[in-house]
Amino acid sequence: MFINPYNFAAIDEENVAREQAIRYGGKSGVITVTLRFLTEAHVGDGNRKFMKVGAKTGIYGSSLKGLLRATAEAISNSCISMISDELSGSLKDDILIKKCDKDNGLCIACRIFGTTVKNSIINDEEESFSFAGKIKVMDAVSVDTRKITKDAYLQNEHSLSSPKPLRHRIFYFDNNKIKGRKFYYHHKKANLPQRGELKIEVVSENSEFEFEIHYNSLTDKELGLLIQSIELKDGFGHKLGMGKPLGLGSCKMRIIRLKELNSKDRYSKLDSVNEIEGKEIEKHIEGLTKSYANGKALDLSRNSQLKDLLRLDKSQNNNGSPGALQIKYPSQNWFSANKNVPLPPDGILDKPRTPPTKKTEKLQGKAKATVDEVKEFGTVLNLPDNKKGYLSKDKYESKGIELKKGQSLEVTVGEFSDNSKMYICNL
Ligand SMILES: [Zn+2]
Repeated sequence: MFINPYNFAAIDEENVAREQAIRYGGKSGVITVTLRFLTEAHVGDGNRKFMKVGAKTGIYGSSLKGLLRATAEAISNSCISMISDELSGSLKDDILIKKCDKDNGLCIACRIFGTTVKNSIINDEEESFSFAGKIKVMDAVSVDTRKITKDAYLQNEHSLSSPKPLRHRIFYFDNNKIKGRKFYYHHKKANLPQRGELKIEVVSENSEFEFEIHYNSLTDKELGLLIQSIELKDGFGHKLGMGKPLGLGSCKMRIIRLKELNSKDRYSKLDSVNEIEGKEIEKHIEGLTKSYANGKALDLSRNSQLKDLLRLDKSQNNNGSPGALQIKYPSQNWFSANKNVPLPPDGILDKPRTPPTKKTEKLQGKAKATVDEVKEFGTVLNLPDNKKGYLSKDKYESKGIELKKGQSLEVTVGEFSDNSKMYICNL
């Protein structure tokens, strides 16, 4: 048995809460955060080196912002902004994930971190809309002046690239929908090879960094979510930088100082900054986090998979058998032998399994579908039962068929023995 390096935290697309963002009022201030790596880490630039800040080592604020956003999105069931980069252009149409836009308002993650939407097409003209977000994440700088970086080696260039979703489709998709937000499990210790072709700079375990987050006009709820996303409770941690499948980048963040600007008095008084640190900070933060999720602390209860993905002791989960489970990619041989095995919710592969009962299909008859939208790579169909389907272009273009919006098509409707529906387009 072994654990696949990544898994997905589910999205509940129907229940993404959206509202208009406020630009004025609310809370403003500066949060100071320390970040301590639990495993070696590589957060570098194109040269595979860390940023230098004088004699110290730095981490780009954009990397930290990306990490905080991914966490905030997952905790709050926000829209999915981070995953699209990894998926190729053709898949973006395929997965049909709704984004926030001007008319429907923004999810809480888009309100805090900002968004640009450019795919709303009205009268053939592409409309773009953007909201700048309300936080600025500054670069992090190492706390220690002594050298904390060292050279490490990876097998080759491929060791830092992520797997291609199209190759392992069954791991990524469920009924043609992306399974959720991708996260990498924590390792107990990074698994770096002794030698290899690719030299990278890493920081050692226990390296500590400090950075600031400047926030502006956040509502209590938005600030509450931001704080929960920074400081995960004991037993949970973040993963930052490259080489996550090898165990690099596990870290803990802690808020050590908070400067709150009193917005009302902002321009009239000089003493309107409230600075909290030391013993006071923990209690104060707890109060602020309660504004999010009705007084609950980090709300992972709704999403047991996210909880499993953020746990620091995942690799120690041995399900009763002796020894810790290794976290590693399945080999090519494994994939060839297990073509139709989906990624289980706990990520553990090669578990003794009861053979799946064979799915049988029962035809229910024919029905009509209509063309909803013709896109660059294919067509979105309105199927019976308010379902949407996707028909890739090569399926109909090879037959010389041209589809137009509103056109109706005949589909065969059926049901599998596990009660899931199937639709076959009769072209
Ligand atoms: Zn959004």
